[in-house]
This record gives sequence, C-alpha cells and structure tokens, in this order.
Amino acid sequence: MRVLVVASEAYPLVKTGGLADVAGALPAALCRLGVDARILLPAYPGVLAKVADPGVAHGLGDILGVGPSRLIEARMPDSGVPVWLLDCPTLFDRPGGPYQRPDGSEHPDNGLRFALLSRVAALLGSGEALANWSADIVHASDWQTGLVPAYLKLAGRQVPRTVFTIHNLHFAGLFGPDFVASAGLPPHAFSIDGVEFNGLVSTLKAGLFYADRLTTVSPTYAWEVTTPEGGRGLDGLLSGRARAGEFSGILNGVDYALWDPAKDPDIAAAYGPDTVAEGKARCKAALQREMGLDERPDAPVLGLVSRFSDQKGIDLVAGAAARLIEAGAQLAVLGSGDWALEQQFLQLSRRYAGSIAMQTAYDEALSHRIQAASDFFLVPSRFEPCGLTQLYALRYGALPIVRRTGGLADTVRDMSDEGTGTGFLFDSPSVEGLLSAFYRALALYARPDALHYARQRAMAQDFGWHRAAEAYVDLYEQTLRG
Ligand code: ADP
Repeated sequence: MRVLVVASEAYPLVKTGGLADVAGALPAALCRLGVDARILLPAYPGVLAKVADPGVAHGLGDILGVGPSRLIEARMPDSGVPVWLLDCPTLFDRPGGPYQRPDGSEHPDNGLRFALLSRVAALLGSGEALANWSADIVHASDWQTGLVPAYLKLAGRQVPRTVFTIHNLHFAGLFGPDFVASAGLPPHAFSIDGVEFNGLVSTLKAGLFYADRLTTVSPTYAWEVTTPEGGRGLDGLLSGRARAGEFSGILNGVDYALWDPAKDPDIAAAYGPDTVAEGKARCKAALQREMGLDERPDAPVLGLVSRFSDQKGIDLVAGAAARLIEAGAQLAVLGSGDWALEQQFLQLSRRYAGSIAMQTAYDEALSHRIQAASDFFLVPSRFEPCGLTQLYALRYGALPIVRRTGGLADTVRDMSDEGTGTGFLFDSPSVEGLLSAFYRALALYARPDALHYARQRAMAQDFGWHRAAEAYVDLYEQTLRG
C-alpha cells in the first residue's frame, strides 16, 4: 500500500506543535508495518539543510500562477522515510515560521501557500506529478491541507482515496469567496455542499466534506466535535459522517525513541522505573540551577510546556500561581504565543523569583529537561484534541494534572483509584478546579511510597506508535474497499 502523508510541518524538520510530531512519526511507524509511506512538506528555509540525501529535483512548472515549483527528493533524518520537499521560493523561502512572519502576524498569502501544497499533494497522489510514483491513499491534516480531498474529488478522481485528520478543529482556514478562483477551484465548489462555510471558504471544511474518511486524534474529542458545544458549527457535518461510519478517533502515539528518560541525551541523569526517585532528584536539582529556581530538593516541581493560547488554560495556572507557591510548589514554565499571557507569566516569575521560572523560547531540549525534573505536569486545557505533553509526562514519571477533556480524558487515569491511577483529572475549567486537583497531588507527594508506585505505573503506560499505526492501516484498508 502506498500512502502519501502531506503536512505543513513534520518533526524534526519543522515543528510548531503536535501535528509535526505526528507527521514525523506516523509515516515511520507505517513503514515499519510494510507500508510505502512518504511525506510531502514545504521546503521552508533551513529544511533542506536538515534532510538526508537531498537529490533529484523535479520541475512542476507554475501551478497556481504563483511562480515555479519543484519537488526535491530526500529522506527524513533518523527515520529515513522518503520525503518530497515542495520548493516554491515565492511562497516558502522567506523569514518567519511556517504560518507567521517574524513579527508574529500571519503570512498574508497563507491561503495560496497551502493551496499550492494541497494541489501538489493531489497531483503527486494521482500520479500526475511524477511518472514513477502515485498513492493509494493521501492522508491530509487540518486546514492547511484540507483542499487535498477537494482537488481530487472535484476532478472526479476515485483514486487515490483520501483520509483527513483533525488535529484541531479550532483553526478553520477561512478565506474570502475570491479564494475559490485563486485556488483553482471550480465556482460550483463554493456551496454548502462544498467548501463554503458561513459565507467564506473554509479549507478545514473542505477536508471534512470531501475526504473519504475522517479521523481525529482521540475517541473523546471525536465525540466532542459532534456536539454543538464542541463542533464550532461543523457538528452537523461531523455527526452525519460519524453516523455513516466515516469518522472515528485514533489516539496519537508517542515516539519513545525520542521520549525516553532512560536514553535521553538532553537530561541531567538517565533513569528508568526503578531509579525514578534518584533520577528525578538529580534532574530536578539541575533544572533548578538552570532556570534559576531555589535549590530545594523537597519542593514539588510543576512543569508546564505549551503553546500559550486560550485553548491551553494557561490563564488558570496564572490565576492559581499564588496558591501553588504558598503550598511550597515550584513552577517551571516553557511556552510562547499569546503576548498578554507571556507578559503575565514573566511578571509572575519576577514576583515569585526562585519559585516560578519562565522561558518564552521554543526549546525542544529544555522541554525534555522540564519533563524529567517535574513531579507533576500541568495540562489544564479548555479543549484538547489529543495532547502529547501529558503522554511524554507519563513516560517521564511526571504525574499529569489535566482537565477531563478530549485526549486528556482518554490517556490519564485518575488517582482516586490508587491501583490504576496515573495522574489527576479535574472537570471545571476554573482556578478552583485546577487547585482541587493540585491539592490532591500534593497529598500524594507527601506519601513517598504511594508516589513511587504511581510514577512507576505512569512510566509503564504504552502509547507507542505501533498501535496507532495499525489502526491507521486498518482504516486505509477499509477506505480502499470503499
Ligand atoms: P498542540 O499541538 O496543540 O500545541 P500538543 O500537546 O499536541 O499541543 O503538542 C505540543 C508539542 O509542542 C509537544 O511536543 C510539546 O512538547 C511541544 N512544545 C510546545 N511548546 C513548546 C516550547 N515552547 N518549546 C518546546 N516544545 C514545545
């Protein structure tokens, strides 16, 4: 089976969030199951320098009137999975991140940039871009590649079949009606049975409408988005597709080759389930020094690594901070995004110097050190499609304190059952809700034996990619059978 995974980011080439972790790891796991899986990704600046064996470039001409494009063949570092880099200098060779300019504003032509990526995925998948490869399945994700199924279906193509995954329903990919023409879509596609959504084009909705099968990244989120509260106006479409058996939730996996405290080159001391107490103590001391926290071995350290946005409930942590510190805890925070939230945390880190440390960078290695040093890990999201940081936290024995929503509810078991518990869940998206879980965590922290067993249980949880990749292979097979 030949599968083209098309994404706007893929670790380790370019990453802003969980989508990159998945787009990097899933194809590798599919290859291990014997699938011919390949990746298509834009050639952002710097990406070419990171790939292995960059080779032949295939000219594609000027596809959407945006300038010439080429496909550069290469391999992913580490996994060796074949990757095509879409090189279109007018759209992708510029400063900033995949979606934003250096000043944090969106690239003004994001619609066209990702329309081109989607169009090339459709051409590559259907064998029109290269003579020697086509796909049985094209697997696209989120608004950036929602037009892939639209291009294929509107051209009347039954092959390749398409799978579309929602990593986050929050980003609808909205563009004005003129976008229909500039993206090269036929005018009739601008309809409720098409790409239209509240008078605009939504590339996310395009994916939801035209793909043969839909998935999202956890069973609970799959249910939540079919409800008016969670569906953002798309619940009607999604519940219809769920009733037709065309929409399901497959939990993301973790790449344990990268996230394993026993062989993590970024942390101060390696540890496994039997050595977690000593290992964490050393990692904690090292992090306290590194981030400027008071060197108190007995202080429970709470880790937080996150995009700073309303979704993530970071404001709840800010609201609870005074009481967390009063109770003797320390907060190690790494995150960036919303400016006001960043400022709030920088202020807190000044007011509670020694107890709250904040880094606004994007720092992969520091994120590992925070996981390794933390006793508890905070993920108080208002909604969370899957969430990866709580899965990393489990493996690092940092017991997650999470809101009972989406993938958090599916992956963390509450310590109210001490035989099976791996963390602490709370329901109300409020400071009080978060604190109620925190105080329970603190009570556990005071009981070293119970804490030790809970850490060992957390570390033994297996969310490896193998299971998720098998579920995707099953789904691809069903999709091919129609
Ligand atoms: P989302 O994709 O919604 O941001 P996920 O939990 O699915 O949330 O994935 C977030 C990923 O990004 C994780 O791998 C997390 O470790 C990483 N991450 C988030 N913020 C930072 C940061 N400031 N520095 C390093 N890694 C970060």
